[in-house]
Amino acid sequence: MHQSAWQKELFRVGALVSTGLAAGWSVGYPTVGLLTGLTVSQLVSLHAAQALYRWSYRLGPPPQDSGYVGYSVDKLLRREKQLRARLAKQAMELQRYNQGIESLQDGVLILDQEGFITTINGAAIRLLSLRKDDAGQHVKNLIRHPLFVRYFDQGDFREALQFDMRKFSLQLQITEFGYEQKVMLVRDVTERKRVESMRQNFIADVSHELRTPLTVLNGYLEMMSDMELPSSMNKAISQMDSQSKRMTMLVNDLIELSKLESVSSERKGEWFSFTQLCHEVIDQLRDFAEGHIIMDDRAKAEVEGFPDEIRSILTNLLTNALKYGGGKDVTLKIHTSMKGLKVSVIDQGDGIPAEHINRITERFYRVDESRESEIGGSGLGLAIVKHALEHHDATLQIDSIVGEGSTFSFVIPTYRVR
Ligand code: ADP
Repeated sequence: MHQSAWQKELFRVGALVSTGLAAGWSVGYPTVGLLTGLTVSQLVSLHAAQALYRWSYRLGPPPQDSGYVGYSVDKLLRREKQLRARLAKQAMELQRYNQGIESLQDGVLILDQEGFITTINGAAIRLLSLRKDDAGQHVKNLIRHPLFVRYFDQGDFREALQFDMRKFSLQLQITEFGYEQKVMLVRDVTERKRVESMRQNFIADVSHELRTPLTVLNGYLEMMSDMELPSSMNKAISQMDSQSKRMTMLVNDLIELSKLESVSSERKGEWFSFTQLCHEVIDQLRDFAEGHIIMDDRAKAEVEGFPDEIRSILTNLLTNALKYGGGKDVTLKIHTSMKGLKVSVIDQGDGIPAEHINRITERFYRVDESRESEIGGSGLGLAIVKHALEHHDATLQIDSIVGEGSTFSFVIPTYRVR
């Protein structure tokens, strides 16, 4: 094709120049004829170039030319056609993809590197009370919930965020893709939360209802244990007494757990002396077991949170360390780390086999049912600890070596410590 365009161009110039030359020759002016032929050939090329220029600005039709210009125009037209077909296909794919996103029940927001919204679907608009033309705005200008702002700024999206917005309870998950772009999935969990809260209320109500009869039973049993009774009765009464105390403990733990589960995620904590609270808990546990609690206190700190919940965390962890610590001393270590205030409860007991570690924070999960029912406990202690720690943005870390002991630790993040 190149070859034939070049040949045609050459042929045209040759034909015009030789026609001019021949005409000039015939009238006795060959030079004038040659120059005229050259000028005409130049004018034809100029005309084609001008037509090309006009066409490139869409001011005229594509130039009709048999030479190089015509060849290039043909090529350009073919490329343009291919490009248009490709664009049309891409536009259709984009439309299909947008329709797909639009039809999702879950809200979808796509954010660019800086957090500006590039795509938003109908469900996101409905759940987050946004408007269609909110696309293009920064996500933090639109979702101002403090929990979301903190979650977004912190940049750790491994776990989903739950928060309430107007009449919806929402679960929000961010996934990063490409170059720091993000997809935000927003799910309506209002119904799930309602059922969950019905379950929690039921447990809390039953536990409360059990409390009164148990108090009466405990009272009578205590009275009877002081009475002069036949020795055969004494054993039965002491067993009834210990079982009824165990049941009271279980009911109290159930009430505490359901309280922890139902508190609002928006309540504000208070600043309190962490060290003083540790001393108070240790004092209360002084006569609990044979082992002593040694306080290795390398940081005096104030913590922002809920003192009753921290008290419960420390009491549960220390009680367990004493219960399962084989009568040896237990250490409560407090020190500052890069991430915040690190608190560890270290015992020298039998330890926990690795396969149980992931499960011991589940309700009623026990490593050795027969041993533990002798030691006593509700099986809810670590579930309470886990929940209370979540309210302080902390997680429980368990390290244990069988035969050497266990360490239960957590870090209260820097923004809650001063
Ligand atoms: P419990 O009331 O039975 O102590 P927890 O929820 O506090 O319930 O603990 C769950 C289980 O985890 C316990 O039954 C025990 O098997 C195990 N466990 C907890 N703390 C320790 C520890 N310090 N050493 C060994 N085992 C432990």
